[in-house]
Amino acid sequence: MNNPPTMNNQSRIKNIFIAFGGNLGDVESNFRSARSDIDQLDDTSVISSSLLYRTPPIGPAGQPDYCNAVIVIESTLEPLELLDALQDIETRHHRIRAEHWGPRTLDLDIIAMNSMSITTDRLTIPHAQMQHRQFVLQPLCDIDTNWQHPLLNRTAIQLLQTLLDTGETALPKGIVW
Ligand code: ATP
Ligand code: MG
Ligand code: MG
Repeated sequence: MNNPPTMNNQSRIKNIFIAFGGNLGDVESNFRSARSDIDQLDDTSVISSSLLYRTPPIGPAGQPDYCNAVIVIESTLEPLELLDALQDIETRHHRIRAEHWGPRTLDLDIIAMNSMSITTDRLTIPHAQMQHRQFVLQPLCDIDTNWQHPLLNRTAIQLLQTLLDTGETALPKGIVW
């Protein structure tokens, strides 16, 4: 927690959900190290973490299972400043972008920032795929089942329930990390 958000910029403090994913190397250790790096960013504090889930891969076949989790932070960083910082942390954890949805040591995606809606070349918030991904919605529900999607007007638990209603198998219980 380097320079935690102060009273002076309280109006600029945002609640931000970040999804972690990875399936190469010591993923749990990478997750802990990346969470600590995020907590060290200027004017940023990690507030809480979901459990860590083991999930089947999407994308190219034959990959190892993934680990997934979500954290919530408070930060005054602007959206693109945060994206730059997260991509820097991915790179420091040896993230290589070889093939779309291919295996990776660490993926850090911004899921939501307050109730903002952003669509630019580099950034879509809320994350465009989140409502289709149990590996995002289940950990998000660990933190706040009542989180409200600003465009779909549905809560995290309602979005998760929709996936389960369509026949998806619930994820096995996660672990503390
Ligand atoms: P997916 O976004 O489907 O989970 P991915 O995480 O594997 O795929 P990446 O290779 O990590 O994709 O990122 C590709 C690009 O996505 C990034 O360069 C970034 O500019 C863009 N992007 C758009 N919206 C977001 C977001 N909400 N969080 C992180 N990256 C985003
Ligand atoms: Mg991703
Ligand atoms: Mg990503």
